[in-house]
Amino acid sequence: MITDHDYSIAAQRILSWADMLAAHTDVTGELTCTYLTPAHRATAQQIAQWMNDCGFDEVRHDAVGNVIGRYKGGAAHGLVATGSHYDTVRNGGRYDGRLGILVPMAVVAAMHARNERLPFDLEVVGFAEEEGVRFGGTFLGSSAYAGQYDPALLALRDGDGVSVSEAMLAAGLDPDVLCASGNAPAEGGPTGLRHYFEIHIEQGPVLLETGRALGVVSAIAGCVRRVLVLEGLAGHAGTVPMALRRDAAAAGAEIVLAVERICRERAGVVGTVGILEVPGGSINVVPGQCRLSLDVRAGKDETRDAALAAIDAEVQAICRRRNIAWTSTELLRAAAVPCSDEGRRLWRKTLQDIGHEPFELSSGAGHDAMLMARVVPVSMLFLRCGNGGISHNPLETVSAADVADTCRATRRFLDVLAADGLAPAR
Ligand SMILES: [Zn+2]
Repeated sequence: MITDHDYSIAAQRILSWADMLAAHTDVTGELTCTYLTPAHRATAQQIAQWMNDCGFDEVRHDAVGNVIGRYKGGAAHGLVATGSHYDTVRNGGRYDGRLGILVPMAVVAAMHARNERLPFDLEVVGFAEEEGVRFGGTFLGSSAYAGQYDPALLALRDGDGVSVSEAMLAAGLDPDVLCASGNAPAEGGPTGLRHYFEIHIEQGPVLLETGRALGVVSAIAGCVRRVLVLEGLAGHAGTVPMALRRDAAAAGAEIVLAVERICRERAGVVGTVGILEVPGGSINVVPGQCRLSLDVRAGKDETRDAALAAIDAEVQAICRRRNIAWTSTELLRAAAVPCSDEGRRLWRKTLQDIGHEPFELSSGAGHDAMLMARVVPVSMLFLRCGNGGISHNPLETVSAADVADTCRATRRFLDVLAADGLAPAR
């Protein structure tokens, strides 16, 4: 049995690992670790070395640069995978993604030290790329692991004109191997894969504000993004009477407040107007045009679409009243990815077993689990972010006590999964 003391040692080890990984950076003085840079490759080497130290039976690098450690158990029960990404945004935090690799590594180390084996093989995967910073394409790591890599990604170029395939060759990776038919995870992920779970910092303030260390993710929110263009009539700021104006910016202001009100009224919906501009505006001209962006997300597509319909109706009413013409262009529509009902149930049981309330929340941010959900049931556990819940920022932080609880929950989940969650292998 792994003891409380073991878990607090594991947490200290994880925090110091995260500190050491943060020393590998593309830009001195901050943490920026983008796909296939020297810092990124050094990070992969370091993770692989620690995996060996932890007692994994096999540690390998795959064609895309993922680092994969396998802890063997009863292979008759198939394979369970967990992991997250080790690339970062520019000037990011040291826990985003990485905790989802380091926590299971420390749990495997603790199991190995006590000769504990699971009734299934466990793979811990450090995904090479999730953030899309260098090449624009996201999920390069998990899509390869899941057998879903799109060869068109190889042609993407970074800001210096270097393509993904050129960067791979320079880093000693072979893009031909990645795309060759017969490459191991060609058909829907590694053989025998039964479940994928991901541990991630929440990257928001919900757990912090509600006084909880851990939460079960119900779904990864879907997202709709639009650009609205409002056309009024520009006019002289001194001569056009207020009652006769067709002020596009004033209509835009009403729309911003309507988006806020409509999304606040609905549980589980967030809506943001992140861009609001008067193109060519002047201090002495009534705004003739206003451009605004709209980003609406929810854990359920129906909920999100209902909010969008209410927003559209409100925009229509505002613009009619103000005699403003408007157009709306959809830039992105990504479906929500629900975590599997079974996985959610097992995580709720896990939290109860370790004395935590089985609290659920949705994820507003995207994660590798979204990609893995194409080929296998997925589940996620969030742990609390400190510092107001800030992430994608050097101020991102977690507490050692919460990391210890996360290790305890992870170990318990593996047992719950073994006892209750895995039907006989295919
Ligand atoms: Zn992340």
